[in-house]
Amino acid sequence: MNLSLRLQKIADFVPDGGIMADVGTDHGHLPIYLVSSHKNKGAIAMDVRPGPLSRAEQAIKMYGLQEQIQVRLADGLAALKPGEADTVVIAGMGGALIQKILGEGAHMWDNVGHWILSPQSEIGDTRHWLEQHGFSIEKEEMVLDAGKYYVIMDVVRGPMHYEQEYEYTYGKYLIDGKHPVLKAYLEQELEKVQGLIEKLGQSQNGSDRNLLRVEELRQELEQIHKVMGVLEVA
Ligand code: SAM
Repeated sequence: MNLSLRLQKIADFVPDGGIMADVGTDHGHLPIYLVSSHKNKGAIAMDVRPGPLSRAEQAIKMYGLQEQIQVRLADGLAALKPGEADTVVIAGMGGALIQKILGEGAHMWDNVGHWILSPQSEIGDTRHWLEQHGFSIEKEEMVLDAGKYYVIMDVVRGPMHYEQEYEYTYGKYLIDGKHPVLKAYLEQELEKVQGLIEKLGQSQNGSDRNLLRVEELRQELEQIHKVMGVLEVA
């Protein structure tokens, strides 16, 4: 099983041995890769929709891994019991949904060693949520895969606090490590935000909504400049 660059980085964050649970498994590629490569002893592939789950089930059968990979039709962590998995992956969803799944799965918080999360939106907000609920980001990765940027977090239980808001927005771990993909992402964001400010500035629409949006974009620009300063790319 060959994984996309994004899924490969997620797989790399899953500790060796043990059992992983994949929330929102869809095609089931991640558990199939982890078990067939013997990185994990077993896996639990879960999805809230029967269609994706049956696709995963077929693929698991094709690889002859029915003994090692269980499939469960479930909303979030509802069908997972303490002690069943050492690592939980929640990837390929928006940050708000990931927060909801984690929030409704508090019975698992202290029974899972590593949470591998890859929110595709509301990323800064997810870092705040993790801090507020006693989680700590141990490691982070960022990849550019098929033209899209993805963040992957290795999360454990424990205290976390960042001094700067931009560290929540763009990831303290990535900033401290001067991550090359973050640099490329910021350069792209800088261009995008500057373009939007220019466009809004040229428009004749001086509504409160427009002015507010320009102010938000200016603040975003300021944050990007600060991070670029830290990364020494400005
Ligand atoms: N995790 C895979 C990945 O990263 O490539 C698949 C991501 S796919 C875009 C999102 C999957 O999450 C879908 O199969 C969807 O049915 C599932 N999903 C959405 N909400 C869910 C929930 N509350 N509980 C479990 N699965 C959910």
